[in-house]
Amino acid sequence: MTHKSDPVIDNPASDLSVTLWGVHGSVPKPSLETSRFGCATSCYEITNDVQSLICDAGTGLVGLGQKLVQDNVKDIEIVFSHYHIDHVLGFPFFAPLYVPGMRVHVYASQEILGRSPGKMMKRLFAQPFFPMGLDAIKAELTCHDLSTRKTRLLCGATVECLPLCHPGGNAALRVQWNGKTIIYSGDFAHGDAATDAKLKSWFDNADLGLVECTFTPETYDKGHSFGHTHWEAAGALAGAARTWVGVHHHHLADDHDLATVDARLRALHANGQLGRDGQTIWL
Ligand SMILES: [Zn+2]
Ligand SMILES: [Zn+2]
Repeated sequence: MTHKSDPVIDNPASDLSVTLWGVHGSVPKPSLETSRFGCATSCYEITNDVQSLICDAGTGLVGLGQKLVQDNVKDIEIVFSHYHIDHVLGFPFFAPLYVPGMRVHVYASQEILGRSPGKMMKRLFAQPFFPMGLDAIKAELTCHDLSTRKTRLLCGATVECLPLCHPGGNAALRVQWNGKTIIYSGDFAHGDAATDAKLKSWFDNADLGLVECTFTPETYDKGHSFGHTHWEAAGALAGAARTWVGVHHHHLADDHDLATVDARLRALHANGQLGRDGQTIWL
């Protein structure tokens, strides 16, 4: 799904692309004033047009699920950075779960998050949060634990996790597939020197960095940032990636606010921009 007005980064020589299905942070905020950048929460599809690897299952996953059913994709893999509600809320509404014959594999790091993906699923599919239990799922659902070491997924990609500073834990994901490297930072607070250095070294060698830009330097207040960062600090970490895209926009930001940030960000970084729902980036 590509909007004509989107600043698509195009490399026709490659068959690997990343589509941003949800770039809004924390909670959806649908309105006319959020229609340009979008209001769906975290969901990113990496695909070689045959298989798809999904990072996070925010509300953006709902539309992606419809597309995967239409395309009759049978094997789907979803990697969770962490379990905060804006990163899992789309999962119970993921259409492939209710289609017999589909195989859905979910991955997350118990080591970093303190809870296995299987236990998280039991919490998600239960009253009072959701009317149905896990027994409503008709697809074959398999949960896998991720270590911080390299894990090979069924699609052929490898994934590594890096623990970041975020309440309850969060794993940055390094995905390597078809000779390309994609870093998805998920949610994090900058400022821990050792963690920042490691994350920067990941971005330095990446073809694409997806990095959270919840705050601006002016609105960022370390004591009330809830484990998030601002676009200038994000750019200092991700700026050496071949291309980087700011995601997880502040939940109260509208298109006017985000266009201002986008312009400031682009003035500092020729290889950076704020992402939009529906945007596709070819690697
Ligand atoms: Zn979040
Ligand atoms: Zn979070």
